[in-house]
Amino acid sequence: MLGLMQQWPLLCHKILDYAAIQHGSREVVTRSVEGPITRTTYAEIRVRSLKVAQKLARDGFGEGDRIATLAWNTARHIEAWYGTMGIGAVYHTLNPRLFPDQIAWIMNHAEDKALFVDLTFMPIVEKIATQVSSLQKIIVLTDSAHMPDTKLDNVVAYEDWLADADSDFAWKELDENAACGMCYTSGTTGDPKGVLYSHRSNVLHALIAVQPDAMGISSRDTILPVVPMFHANAWGLAHSAPMIGAKLVMPGARMDGEAIYELLDTEKVSFTAAVPTVWLMLLQHLEETGKKLPHLNKVVIGGSACPRAMTEKFQRIYDVEVIHAWGMTEMSPLGSLGSMKPEYAGLEGDAKLDIQEKQGFAPFGVEMKITDDENNDLPWDGETFGRLKVRGPAIASAYYGGAGAEQFDSDNWFDTGDVAHIDPNGYMEITDRAKDVIKSGGEWISTITLENLAVGHPDVAEAAAIGIAHPKWDERPLLVVVAKAGKSPSKDDLLDYLAGKVAKWWLPDDVVFVDEIPHTATGKIQKTTLRDQFRDYSLPGVEAL
Ligand code: ADP
Repeated sequence: MLGLMQQWPLLCHKILDYAAIQHGSREVVTRSVEGPITRTTYAEIRVRSLKVAQKLARDGFGEGDRIATLAWNTARHIEAWYGTMGIGAVYHTLNPRLFPDQIAWIMNHAEDKALFVDLTFMPIVEKIATQVSSLQKIIVLTDSAHMPDTKLDNVVAYEDWLADADSDFAWKELDENAACGMCYTSGTTGDPKGVLYSHRSNVLHALIAVQPDAMGISSRDTILPVVPMFHANAWGLAHSAPMIGAKLVMPGARMDGEAIYELLDTEKVSFTAAVPTVWLMLLQHLEETGKKLPHLNKVVIGGSACPRAMTEKFQRIYDVEVIHAWGMTEMSPLGSLGSMKPEYAGLEGDAKLDIQEKQGFAPFGVEMKITDDENNDLPWDGETFGRLKVRGPAIASAYYGGAGAEQFDSDNWFDTGDVAHIDPNGYMEITDRAKDVIKSGGEWISTITLENLAVGHPDVAEAAAIGIAHPKWDERPLLVVVAKAGKSPSKDDLLDYLAGKVAKWWLPDDVVFVDEIPHTATGKIQKTTLRDQFRDYSLPGVEAL
């Protein structure tokens, strides 16, 4: 027997309609790419998104067309997204930190037909536009006064383009399973792979994200998504913030400590989210200036492991609660968040940090398991680690174009490529990426554990552990360290510091100091490059292989 309830398709533009109706005067503040702080509201954003939709439709774009964006977090970028989704087209966020040739490769693969681009990235577009044969129109997210000179055809200033639209447009009626968004993984192994979100998955992900034990946000929050919209949908915030009517503060092109602090302070931001590198810059700025964070309640940190020392500083010195989160582009992206279950109520100090070092538990909407290489389930004992697999309504069922099919099994479990253990309370801890884990004598050594411990040393700014080929053990760990400015710790300092914190056989065979560790376009340590760099490294006592 079927239920007798209404079919109400889960469509993204309903989120914006809701925000405009219930929270229409709520502000969206932007540090504009041109410089000044600008202010708009959800009601105004809805009107302008309708204009975007109207103009895209007039220009001949329609259902299923991929419309790229190469842009910072701004109100205009949100308008471009919702306008695109509102005609049944697909916003495709491009990561400007990739090499121009990679961006061109991705655009060609996605067959992007139009592009919304920020002024900052016009030099990239000048380089690649002619390589993308599908590209018909380039809309520069600015006004005519700021338009740069360009030799490219079909380029228009966003404000000029919108000027003759009146917003008298009805959102397209769509199947909730229609595609609406696209984002490519950064391709740390092989070519980038396209993840294709649907209206339904984005709406459900937004509902998953706002749950109290997930991001736990409400209309009373002021949200600063530092995490870019081109990095896995700004972790869903461009959908979940309007869904609950929170004030939004968009940081534009500036993510340095001073700029972020200024927004946190002047806009009284209560909730923010970004990768650890951003918070390193902010914490450094706070340390140098002695400033405090009186308005901020909560910070979500993920994208790579949040160092314990960072969580500790935020909570002890600045009284800001840290939520450690894990996820990936393929999961829209949230997979787990580390809020405290009642089992841990009242924990403080190190006992609380022990739990927060883990990546947290899966919210409703994410199923999780760990398996061995033969796909046998492993126990949730907090020790046994295995391949982390997930399934849920906001998790990819395939990559665009069919690449990477081996990551999806017949009952929908997606192999994340991460290695993790899960404790009896459901808290998951990532111990590695499957391709990074160090295999020593048939056992696994977690590089993340070594890195997290090493950055706890007072003189260490950043650390990366990689496996170096070893004649007897297969691989042994090498610790690559960037010292803090003005500090020069020694190998023995590091090894003494780690001793006793991990099993003896996990201790690195050597420590090298470098000026810089390479990062991927999403701010993660680029292990492949690092491994290449140290390919011929010979560990002490071992002849080079
Ligand atoms: P890409 O896969 O292209 O590097 P994603 O942003 O989708 O980009 O990265 C997802 C990966 O980032 C996860 O599979 C995981 O390895 C890593 N990651 C994300 N959050 C965390 C975290 N809190 N701790 C450790 N690793 C994390």
